[in-house]
Amino acid sequence: MGMIYLKAGQLKGVGPKKEKILKEMDLQYIDDLLYFFPRKYIDKTRIADLKVHKSGSDGVVSGTIIDIKVKKNYGKKDIMTLRVESQGYIGEILFFNAHYLKNKIKFQKEYFFYGKIELKGKFFKMIHPEIEDFDKKDFLSIEPIYSLPLGLGQKNIRDFIKQCLVFRIYENLPEYYIDKNKLCSREHALKNIHFPESRMKFKEAKYRLIYEEFFKFIFGNQLIKEKNHHQEGVLLKKFRDETNDFISKLLFELTSDQKMVLDEILEDFNSDIPMRRLLQGDVGSGKTVVAVIASYITYLNGFQTAVMVPTEILAMQHYNNFKNVLPDEVKIKLLTSSVQNKKDINREISDGEVDIVIGTHALIQESVNFKNLGFIVTDEQHRFGVNQRKALIDKNKKANYLMMSATPIPRTMSLVMYSDIYVSTINELPTGRKPIDTEIVRSDQLKKLYGKIKTKLENNEQGYIVYPFIEDSEKFEDVKSIKVGYEEINDIFKDYKLGVVHGQQKFEERERILLDFKNGDYDILISTTVIEVGIDVSNASFILINNAERFGLSQLHQLRGRVGRGNIKSHCFLISDSDHERLHALVESNDGFFIAKKDLEIRGPGEVLGIKQHGTNHFLIADMFKHLGIMEQAVNDVAELFEKR
Ligand code: ADP
Ligand code: MG
Repeated sequence: MGMIYLKAGQLKGVGPKKEKILKEMDLQYIDDLLYFFPRKYIDKTRIADLKVHKSGSDGVVSGTIIDIKVKKNYGKKDIMTLRVESQGYIGEILFFNAHYLKNKIKFQKEYFFYGKIELKGKFFKMIHPEIEDFDKKDFLSIEPIYSLPLGLGQKNIRDFIKQCLVFRIYENLPEYYIDKNKLCSREHALKNIHFPESRMKFKEAKYRLIYEEFFKFIFGNQLIKEKNHHQEGVLLKKFRDETNDFISKLLFELTSDQKMVLDEILEDFNSDIPMRRLLQGDVGSGKTVVAVIASYITYLNGFQTAVMVPTEILAMQHYNNFKNVLPDEVKIKLLTSSVQNKKDINREISDGEVDIVIGTHALIQESVNFKNLGFIVTDEQHRFGVNQRKALIDKNKKANYLMMSATPIPRTMSLVMYSDIYVSTINELPTGRKPIDTEIVRSDQLKKLYGKIKTKLENNEQGYIVYPFIEDSEKFEDVKSIKVGYEEINDIFKDYKLGVVHGQQKFEERERILLDFKNGDYDILISTTVIEVGIDVSNASFILINNAERFGLSQLHQLRGRVGRGNIKSHCFLISDSDHERLHALVESNDGFFIAKKDLEIRGPGEVLGIKQHGTNHFLIADMFKHLGIMEQAVNDVAELFEKR
């Protein structure tokens, strides 16, 4: 397909200036221009019926000139007034400074006019409409409108794209799937997406291009997946006995989903293809222990593990977790920006003295070099940008890579989003968990609520009180901050110990308070959303979220996930005087899949999954929600195609 390499600069009418603009718009090649779709269309296919036309709306009129007047306004705009006759109506049509029209307009000749039509009785008026000769019948068309920067006009781009459409346009989808899905050809589609010959043909074009876009995306990802199969990876033996022995010493029995996922990981480990796997599971489903066991197996094989998490607090918590569970001979180190003696740690990592490193993005610094990295984990992976994840993989491309996420997404969507990797899912929570009760509480019912909480505290249960901000702000008068909230809480809960954490504290301080909370030294932890991800205190049984309407749905679900992590009946109180559907969704369901789906509907995949960084919101015309049916077809077709080969 040679033509795709033809440069836009070779088109007629593209000089250096326009070439530069096109380049900036990423429209360097003919193919780019063909896939630069209109933002909207103006339907000029029909001549307006003036008897029923809504005055003030746009339309096409054809009219015969019965009078031409030109008025010179020195210093101001010249006005040309045409009087036309159309459908028994008399129209007055005004043009300003339209010197170019003077020699063109002929008395008694018929023209098309397009623009806003003002009607009054048997008269109509148009101001500076588009005008064209009546014998230029292609004026009656559906006209594309593109999003363009300054310096490039609609006429220019249409002209360029028309030139591109002259080249032979080859089919790029397998014929079998074109027939199967009754798609129009690529040529027909591209022609009619830019210059629709009719509404019907436009629909055909759009359908085909949406399918094509999904198909290409999924197909490309499958190729990446396949290419990965040809890459040499670190092969890790299963060490069945040692692993079983280790698992049997855990304080709990693994759920069957945890076992299944672990098996999938071990299978991947045990091949010389590097693992690329996403582990999704709702908050509290027990993903960490899966990563711990897999790290242990990596250690038994004599390889190193790197675990990257988005916050220092979470790094610290994982560090303690790993240390508590794993035997002493496994050397574990914490690496975050606050950690002292980084140089020593880096040396230990490169010498292979450290077996497991747990850290934040400090892990991806150039100074960090592993001796023999065999396993990489990113927790809360949607919090990382694609470049950060890549930087970690680049430490050793042969290493096995596990991404963990608590944002489960619907299966079809994950087949598209993650079609380049394998997905494992934990669907069940550990046994004994009681579903969290969620209520919306109005601010005038707070007193009653505080009474309920006292009962819980009497039972030696702990909990969180969350505020959106640290300090009050004039901008958000009705929003409670920690500063003001603390006074109130301190007053009501005098007999209890309160801890406060927020992002403005030094890391060491935050760390100490969280550890003390975990050890039971505080009854209530007052905080901002710094506790949002990962924090795991199983004795915490209530969470109060002030101004809950200020938080996003997934964020609220994450916050709620801080409780109900043990066997105590837990409660989540959403304090809010608003009635947002987000809050009701939380009351309705504890199910992360349901919540994620709702959130995707409300905010769209770009926001929820961080795919802006993921680089997969490049869909030009397709939409994963609106076109779910077409997407499913494409997913199935690509799968079938790969199976057939
Ligand atoms: P998440 O999937 O949200 O990261 P964690 O891994 O932090 O969840 O696990 C939540 C809590 O559940 C932790 O306290 C963990 O020790 C506990 N847990 C994990 N697996 C089980 C299990 N099979 N049975 C009981 N408790 C478990
Ligand atoms: Mg977690």
